[in-house]
Amino acid sequence: MGKLSIVATPIGNLEDITLRALRTLKECGVIYAEDTRVISKLLARYEIKKPLQRLDATMETKKVNEIVERLEAGEHVVLVSDAGTPGVSDPGARLVAHIREEIPNGVIEAIPGPSALTATLSIAGLDTSGFTFLGFLPHKKGRQTMLKKIAESELPVVLYESPHRILKLLKELEALKIPRAVVARELTKIHEELVSGSVAEVLEHFAMHPDRVRGEFVVIVAP
Ligand code: SAM
Repeated sequence: MGKLSIVATPIGNLEDITLRALRTLKECGVIYAEDTRVISKLLARYEIKKPLQRLDATMETKKVNEIVERLEAGEHVVLVSDAGTPGVSDPGARLVAHIREEIPNGVIEAIPGPSALTATLSIAGLDTSGFTFLGFLPHKKGRQTMLKKIAESELPVVLYESPHRILKLLKELEALKIPRAVVARELTKIHEELVSGSVAEVLEHFAMHPDRVRGEFVVIVAP
């Protein structure tokens, strides 16, 4: 029986990769990647050459049999997403669930590493002994209900957001009279910044600097 390794990759800075992740990428037989072009840049940086297969969110279920066959043939298979930890708002969780069902005694190992979630929590300056992670909010159906629940939460709530919707989200939080927010942008990259304060202050910061309404965002709604 082979092995499936779920490997965390950098969320920006290509140096943020563990020794174990690099060894695993070097030793495996095949890498399934959310986008083969993205992982190719990381592999080129570390001079790793491996067969690549695409496995995006739409293909998780379809690829189960193929991966099960590989594992049964004794192959070492790696799964990576574009950035961070697979399965955290990224492809991986459904694939792992299916494989566990198909091969209950199979080896699925985590190669832990970066995640925008933990990176933001580590520098937010909040009490993170407990928190709620919701990933991306739904765009339409169920959004208002979720926002109301967030407003009532006694724990910090962590959200992922895109640059297209960050101002909208901050305006919605302000309308709900949520007192504080922490917004992390482009962590580990050149334009990394963390803005924290009242929701009105954070909103003003981004409204005043349209050039900073770019890149990748994590929002923590503070109770
Ligand atoms: N699996 C990834 C992880 O472990 O962080 C998350 C993937 S999710 C599709 C992508 C979202 O993560 C982005 O829209 C953004 O909200 C957040 N993100 C990823 N990289 C980031 C970074 N460098 N700085 C801030 N947020 C980031």
